[in-house]
Amino acid sequence: MLVVMQPAATAADIERVCEEITRQGFKPLPMPGEVRTAIGLLGDDSKADWSYIEALPGVASVLIVQKPYRQASREWKPETTIVEIAPGVRFGGPEIAIVAGPCSVESEEQIVTSARAVRAAGATALRGGAFKPRSSPYAFQGLGKQGLELLALARRETGLAIVTEAMDEHGADLVAEYADCIQIGARNMQNYSLLRHVGRLGKPVMLKRGMAATINDLLLSAEYILAEGNPNVILCERGVRTFDSATRNLFDLTAIPVVQKLSHLPIVADPSHGTGLRDKVTPMARAAVAAGADGVLVEVHPQPDKALSDGAQSLYPEQFAQLVQQLRPIAEAIGRSLAPTPGTAPVDVR
Ligand code: PEP
Ligand code: MN
Repeated sequence: MLVVMQPAATAADIERVCEEITRQGFKPLPMPGEVRTAIGLLGDDSKADWSYIEALPGVASVLIVQKPYRQASREWKPETTIVEIAPGVRFGGPEIAIVAGPCSVESEEQIVTSARAVRAAGATALRGGAFKPRSSPYAFQGLGKQGLELLALARRETGLAIVTEAMDEHGADLVAEYADCIQIGARNMQNYSLLRHVGRLGKPVMLKRGMAATINDLLLSAEYILAEGNPNVILCERGVRTFDSATRNLFDLTAIPVVQKLSHLPIVADPSHGTGLRDKVTPMARAAVAAGADGVLVEVHPQPDKALSDGAQSLYPEQFAQLVQQLRPIAEAIGRSLAPTPGTAPVDVR
């Protein structure tokens, strides 16, 4: 439930509504807007006495949010949320952010070379996993904390913001220390205790769609993070499993406009995991920008044939540079632009 205040409502009117919400056993969440304040009512609001709240001074209307994901819905917040993961690195505004880098952090040389290459090509942020959720327990599992240290080094070298995955609560605490945005991977999209944990950490979160998750499931998972008080959630479409083995996953382009209609949260597209095939990444990245994605996540490796994970879907740096050039006019054709690369390196002394 959402209580929309009149533009002329006073601070005392807002306070009075918050008190009443608390008295009824719920938690009020005041959200000041440019013109008016809205107050969210957190909890199982089916038993709230909204007619009483509606009659309080300064209240314009009471909106019953129909969607099961309350705070993630556009009913709750009509304007698109802009998530800023580092100064100037935004998702959800007119600029499209490009997150690029290898699947895994493998060595200092590999991650720094990757960071320099993607930055030179026009990326906004660097990705690379230090904790890797691999299908086989015998496959490369990532460098762990050392991988995070190498990402921090790459950030110092290039000024790129860092997006990297956490697989459990302890890992999330570590990732929060080193990175700008915590990625929750497809396999953990419904790990609700992890979602609550990253909700409490307060760092921006990139939440990837599970491989068998509906859009409703994705938005409900986002709700777990929002419900803990963390509004900085970026969604990511990365393909779903189907019967067809022609591609690794079925990259669901439709999810982009569907999510944007249902939710105010920004959504990025990951055509790398979405297709699993290097030569399909470029066309699907172009299509994702045309479809309105707020960002694109692309795996790029200096030597894809030597990659310890996901080499087959990783672009060569030159392919990535060409892709970025192709994305510019596509973004412009729909009234957007690519986010600028961060200022001249080294810019970051964190
Ligand atoms: C990744 O980003 O490298 C990754 C493991 O992605 P997903 O969780 O979408 O499979
Ligand atoms: Mn990968």
